[in-house]
Amino acid sequence: MASRYAFVVYKLMAQLFDIEFLEVPDRDFYPDLEGMLAAIRPDTRLVFLANPNNPTGTRIPNHDLDHFIQRVPETALVVLDEAYYEFLEEAPPSLDWIRQGRRVVAMRTFSKIQGLAGLRIGYGFADPEIIEILQRCRQPFNINALAQAAALAGLADEEHMARTRQITQQGREKLNRFFAELHLRQLPSEANFIMVHVGQADVFFKALLQRGVIIRSMTSYGLPEWIRVSIGTPEEMLKFEREFLNVLHDHPVRH
Ligand SMILES: *Cc1c(COP(=O)(O)O)cnc(C)c1O
Repeated sequence: MASRYAFVVYKLMAQLFDIEFLEVPDRDFYPDLEGMLAAIRPDTRLVFLANPNNPTGTRIPNHDLDHFIQRVPETALVVLDEAYYEFLEEAPPSLDWIRQGRRVVAMRTFSKIQGLAGLRIGYGFADPEIIEILQRCRQPFNINALAQAAALAGLADEEHMARTRQITQQGREKLNRFFAELHLRQLPSEANFIMVHVGQADVFFKALLQRGVIIRSMTSYGLPEWIRVSIGTPEEMLKFEREFLNVLHDHPVRH
């Protein structure tokens, strides 16, 4: 189970492994936690929540998440996808929840704050019983030695993480103001990107690409009027703003 507009990989993996996938309607781009609880069936085994979520950037308040996990039936396991965990202020105490014996798995990655996506390495927390099951079905030597060395260096590099967090936060606030001044609808993001309503996402994607800027069209998520813009360095963001204004001039947004 996952919410509509949750990270699309959950649905893709379910399809790949021929597992039934329950998609619960969202509530204005937030997962409808009550709706999800109501939709859990006795045979529902995995409930995925990305927090913050990609592509929306929206985040579930810690209290709501806590309350949700408490009420999920014992027959289901909650998988917390924490790919953007390090960007959060007051991150949820997911590790404590696992230590308290809640039926939760937390997953993290080196792809985002550490910027090591090309090395394909991440990690997770869970009860030893669940980890033992994962050990049985993972491929041998699934994480290579170079990726492990880089991941350890990344964990130790507090300064790089702090700098990335700061550049991202400042860049996100600036981009928030930029879109707000243009009266564009945007979602409140706690990740390193913002989803914004531009009307013709594919047109914006192609036009921006021609101008040397890559954004994501949300058409593949069934949202052909929205794009997702990642936060880059201050110079990259200035270039984005300049080129975006040019494209917007040619393709004004109707509300
Ligand atoms: C990027 C991302 C991941 C995992 O990325 P990997 O590069 O495969 O580690 C998982 N979940 C979400 C929501 C993401 O955005």
